[in-house]
Amino acid sequence: MKAPFLGCIADDFTGATDLANNLVRAGMRVVQSIGVPDAPLDTDADAIVVALKSRTIPAAEAVAQSLAALKWLRAQGTQQTYFKYCSTFDSTAEGNIGPVTDALMDALQIDFTIACPAFPENGRTVFKGYLFVGDELLHESGMRNHPLTPMTDSNLVRVLQAQTTRRVGLIDHRTVAGGTAAIETRIAALRSQGVSMAIVDATDNEDLMQMGRAFATLPLVTAGSGVAIGLPQNFGLDAVAGAAQLPAARGGRAIVSGSCSTATNAQVANFIGHGGAAFAIDPLRLAEGADVASEALAWAEEQLADGPVLVYATAQPDAVRAVQAQLGVAHAGEIVEHAMGAIARGLAERGVGQLIVAGGETSGACVQSLGITTLRIGPQIAPGVPWCHAASPHAKDGGLHIALKSGNFGAVDFFTQAFATLGRDA
Ligand code: ADP
Repeated sequence: MKAPFLGCIADDFTGATDLANNLVRAGMRVVQSIGVPDAPLDTDADAIVVALKSRTIPAAEAVAQSLAALKWLRAQGTQQTYFKYCSTFDSTAEGNIGPVTDALMDALQIDFTIACPAFPENGRTVFKGYLFVGDELLHESGMRNHPLTPMTDSNLVRVLQAQTTRRVGLIDHRTVAGGTAAIETRIAALRSQGVSMAIVDATDNEDLMQMGRAFATLPLVTAGSGVAIGLPQNFGLDAVAGAAQLPAARGGRAIVSGSCSTATNAQVANFIGHGGAAFAIDPLRLAEGADVASEALAWAEEQLADGPVLVYATAQPDAVRAVQAQLGVAHAGEIVEHAMGAIARGLAERGVGQLIVAGGETSGACVQSLGITTLRIGPQIAPGVPWCHAASPHAKDGGLHIALKSGNFGAVDFFTQAFATLGRDA
């Protein structure tokens, strides 16, 4: 077994999958771990992504968790470290992007790294240090109202400088457009001026490829998931064609949806509209103590032989608000997540081998309930959403294919498309 080339630390769960997806697309075989593993992984992966939940926790805890991840990754022999954060650079003035980067630089004993949240395919571009979300500057986008990390300044040099005592500089688009050699020259110049972190402009994939080559010798890269597109070319990979290969798909097909986002509502309606078998979970009955999970599983067992089944709590905003008004936001979320986790586990026990979970928090609950600790990343279904394969003690034959879709990802026919992708590629 060879050592993986790239060790990645992601500050949230679906962000980790998004990063892994881009690495696979660029030819790497990737394994994602939920949290820091307590032992070496038995894998032949080119990259390992450790998924933390450190984006909005206190900075000291985020630093401790990230350093633990770094230590574990280095023990696996990784050559380069990638700290992955959100493509909207979600962070308050207290962090956590700056403090975690500082801690990783100290641990690696290095004096320079880059910071680049650009992901042009998803509309995140950086120009002259300013981050755009689609056609809007970050501070004019919906991110200005984010409940936990409101972003009110689009100038990333300023945003990052407020979070670190190291000097922050810029590698601007003129330099990036000049190609790899120009970027390397600029890095040398910045270092000689005592700059330790540089925001890097990028507006398209060619920029990412150019900078990827220039970052080949940096021990640490900090970025959104976009920069991952340009790094695999540095490692002389030979397994490019088979990177997304998963074991053959088996077993029943099911969807568990606890997301109430606009895209998921449309996907659920589309599935039902095309005659798909569906069972609705009523949060109020859950709150009364009814064993809705068992009812859903008994129903699903009857249907599974005939095609995919959908179990959903997905509802329109006014229905969600009515439930929340009665139960409280947190309690409503918890009981639905708990039920969805139990249903996912029960479906696996009843022979489901191909499972789609819709919803970020819902995914966390289902993965935990299924006892999944690592995911092998396979073919992309939609940007940011790959099929994965995971061992689970609850799956009938020990493992299952699973796709974790965060709220607003995927086209209206995502569920059908997802099963078709698996049929083709796995
Ligand atoms: P998304 O990725 O779309 O944000 P999440 O799973 O992260 O989806 O979050 C959805 C939250 O809404 C979860 O906590 C889930 O339990 C909760 N939820 C789902 N359906 C309902 C409903 N009908 N009423 C109230 N809350 C719900």
